[in-house]
Amino acid sequence: MEFIKFSDVTRTYVSGDSEIKALDNVSFDIQEGKFTVILGPSGSGKSTTLNLLGGMDKVSDGTIRVGDKVITSFNDEELTLYRRNDIGFVFQFYNLIPNLTAYENVDISSRLSKSPISAEKALEAVGLMQRKNNFPSQLSGGELQRVSIARALCKNPKLMLCDEPTGALDSETGRKILTLLYSMSKEYNNTVIVVTHNAAIAPAADRVIKLKDGKLDEIIDNKNPISMG
Ligand code: ADP
Ligand code: ADP
Repeated sequence: MEFIKFSDVTRTYVSGDSEIKALDNVSFDIQEGKFTVILGPSGSGKSTTLNLLGGMDKVSDGTIRVGDKVITSFNDEELTLYRRNDIGFVFQFYNLIPNLTAYENVDISSRLSKSPISAEKALEAVGLMQRKNNFPSQLSGGELQRVSIARALCKNPKLMLCDEPTGALDSETGRKILTLLYSMSKEYNNTVIVVTHNAAIAPAADRVIKLKDGKLDEIIDNKNPISMG
């Protein structure tokens, strides 16, 4: 069964007396454990999609189901718990705490989680144990992104939401990060969603969901996603 079901989702913004449909009647589904890319140019509705999936925004119309949860019927309190317990977030600029070490940045997230993977194990999974005592200022971009992935992973989330996770990296480092996210989706059977405007990432995904002007443009399934290693 599909893990995510986005059904006829519309998100309308009102500014002055005009309306913008950031998403206009969009439907798609995503299977559990799949690595999915949401692709589209600036303004196509990617962030809106990610914010809705992460429980940070609410639909104007339509329903979103994640696992057995219909999150569009959640109240604010339920959404907070959902964000905290069910989602791992990975950001373009890492969002690490500068005066904590790599280990501490991950550990703090692990402690706040209901079903954690230990900070050691998460750092091992991203190949960074040897850098665990370094502070963010002492790490490269690729290493920082690995820490932020470890931080998301240690919550053992069913869903990892990644916003332009390779956007701040050179293309070779970016490829390694994508390969890491892909292999994690298989090893931990967590569903990984990457939002990007960079079409070069598409061949690495199981499924590519293309957005255009707030509408679903195309869904492409790759039977054999290209390893980006
Ligand atoms: P198969 O079922 O033989 O794998 P499909 O044509 O259904 O063939 O899918 C091809 C590939 O596309 C799948 O292996 C999977 O990687 C991806 N895929 C299919 N459906 C989904 C989905 N709902 N969500 C994410 N990826 C999917
Ligand atoms: P993307 O992430 O693909 O760049 P967004 O989801 O951020 O696209 O935006 C989709 C559309 O919705 C754009 O036209 C954008 O200007 C509009 N939009 C997004 N957020 C707001 C907001 N808070 N208020 C008004 N319009 C918004």
